[in-house]
Amino acid sequence: MSADIEHVKCLIIGSGPAGYTAAIYASRADLKPVMYTGLLAGGQLTQTTDVENYPGYPHGIMGPEMMENFRQQAERLGTDIRFGYVSSVDFSSLPHKVVVDERKTITADTVIISTGASAKWLGLDSEQKYSGFGVSACATCDGFFFKGEDVAIVGAGDTAAEEATYLAKLCKKVTMIVRRDEFRASKAMMHRVLNTPNIEILYNTETKEIVGDGQSVTGVTVINNVTNQETTIPVAGFFVAIGHHPNTEIFKGWIHMDETGYIKTTPGSTTTNIEGVFCCGDAQDHIYRQAVTAAGSGCMAAIDAERYLAAKEHVVTA
Ligand code: NDP
Repeated sequence: MSADIEHVKCLIIGSGPAGYTAAIYASRADLKPVMYTGLLAGGQLTQTTDVENYPGYPHGIMGPEMMENFRQQAERLGTDIRFGYVSSVDFSSLPHKVVVDERKTITADTVIISTGASAKWLGLDSEQKYSGFGVSACATCDGFFFKGEDVAIVGAGDTAAEEATYLAKLCKKVTMIVRRDEFRASKAMMHRVLNTPNIEILYNTETKEIVGDGQSVTGVTVINNVTNQETTIPVAGFFVAIGHHPNTEIFKGWIHMDETGYIKTTPGSTTTNIEGVFCCGDAQDHIYRQAVTAAGSGCMAAIDAERYLAAKEHVVTA
């Protein structure tokens, strides 16, 4: 085999909670996993601050620190963790072929996809500046920090509607910023929003800037796109709920996906339509999107990969 082609038993693509948990289980099952971290090593949690809802941390933990712990645990158990991104794959025959950084080819008996998803952002400088300091793309993760305060949320889909009603239970008032004169969310979700007294909806409204005191968010300046009227609303938290996109582009054409690019797995397992390719975490989950659910599915992927290899070995040696 040429020097720039390497064969591995188990290749893990992506390094969020799903990928690291798969790595921990695969290492302990002696699959000698090799992980490529992707460009954002540690995944979405490296871009958050406090994580208070991951079991096992009674006082909470900072997202980047938690992911460093995940990494150290996977490494201690034997995972070969490498910085690099997978640029293309070829799942047409076994073993699977994966190209890393557009130059190195890996052949793999099993591939675990844990490439995650990325939140869509508005693209404002102030949004980036206060990310983790009042700006969040996850109400379930960060809503608690704004208990009893006023917050705003942008978006009009099911996620925004669901997160607004979640926030309304914790916060004094929730202002929903909706860019058109109607919602995209389903009727059932809309019904819940419209029947929650402490949610105020601003239609035809766009976010101009997030205002802060240099440390944290203090308000949001919005503009009505019909009247051009500008208003600054005092809020302590600003939630962005305008959708996510799964990081699955490189698998298009190989793996079955839904219309928005989430990879389809067999319910109750992590198997995909391709033999020996498993998927876990946010790349296949647009509903829960939590670190703990991603970790759980990472564990499932490693067990599925191990059982797949064991069954194959059994057939070969029988
Ligand atoms: P969607 O793509 O459905 O909705 C995104 C929303 O954000 C739209 O209302 C869109 O506005 C708005 N938006 C997009 N860009 C901007 C912007 N730059 N400024 C302001 N607003 C913007 O994403 P969701 O995350 O809501 O949902 C994704 C999928 O997951 C959907 O299929 C949904 O049904 C599903 N889902 C289901 C749930 C459930 O059943 N419990 C819960 C959550 C999600 P516009 O309408 O004007 O385009």
